[in-house]
Amino acid sequence: MSSRPDLGPKPRLGYSGSRIERAAELRANDVAVGAFARVPGAGAYVIGGEWIVMRRGAPLNEPLFTLTEAEAFGPAVETIFLGLLDGAPRFGHGLPPQTAEALKSRDDLHVTDLRSVAVQGLVAADHLPPIAEAKAVLHWHARHRFCSNCGAATGLVCGGWRRDCPQCKAEHFPRTDPVVIMLASDGERCLLGRSPRFVPTMWSCLAGYVEPGESIEDAVHRETREEAGITCGKVVYFASQPWPFPTSLMIGCHARALTHDIVVDREELEDARWFSKSEIEAMLMRKHPQGLTTPPPVAIAHHIIRAWLEDEINFD
Ligand SMILES: [Zn+2]
Repeated sequence: MSSRPDLGPKPRLGYSGSRIERAAELRANDVAVGAFARVPGAGAYVIGGEWIVMRRGAPLNEPLFTLTEAEAFGPAVETIFLGLLDGAPRFGHGLPPQTAEALKSRDDLHVTDLRSVAVQGLVAADHLPPIAEAKAVLHWHARHRFCSNCGAATGLVCGGWRRDCPQCKAEHFPRTDPVVIMLASDGERCLLGRSPRFVPTMWSCLAGYVEPGESIEDAVHRETREEAGITCGKVVYFASQPWPFPTSLMIGCHARALTHDIVVDREELEDARWFSKSEIEAMLMRKHPQGLTTPPPVAIAHHIIRAWLEDEINFD
């Protein structure tokens, strides 16, 4: 292979590599979880819908508060036991979104959305996985206050990891929605698309929800065919990433493209086209002549694309 400029050390994938021990065996023990709230070193992430509350700092903000500090912002709608970090309990303190948003007026706090926190690197990277964990579970609670079986109001149990129905006794668990995100390639070129929601210069991997009764491989084949008219052969798993917008799990794959003529689904994509290795290299290095870019390193698409450029993918 031709030698390529050094892209530097691989950046960390956002929201991944959690250091939290989830301690699921403790969740059902209300006494133990309640006692954890009083342990010195216990901390809470304060989240209201899309808003993440942080104490202003330089260069990084601090998103972890004592439970007393968290409570002072307002009573929690739900409190989630996230687990233990080196033995210290971690909680998610869920505020009503409007309560969190009102905290924007305080000079000592920085309140913004999680995408901004991650992309701009506003907190230490180790905070992103537990914030993602808390945000996803809190969102699930906000949308599941009533039993989907009988309609009765449900109640939080197990430290926030289940809701029980007092009427029909159904148990409801937080859900995760699998999404395939894939790079189809033919050796020399790879396929990227543009959503109308993207900033005008950004191109990324195609992606879509895995449907009931569908394998990851079948979902990769279907989405690539539906969105770009490209037929793929072998699919290789790459890596995964929690994506708490609101409750997805991104399943990163590479796929061998078997056809070349693109037919763009304009309902889903603004455009899709093939990119050469030299063009991808320029995009990753932010040196593309037209200013085109890949997604930022916080997103798995960046890593999927870079791995292809660096010849790390083997379909054999
Ligand atoms: Zn019920």
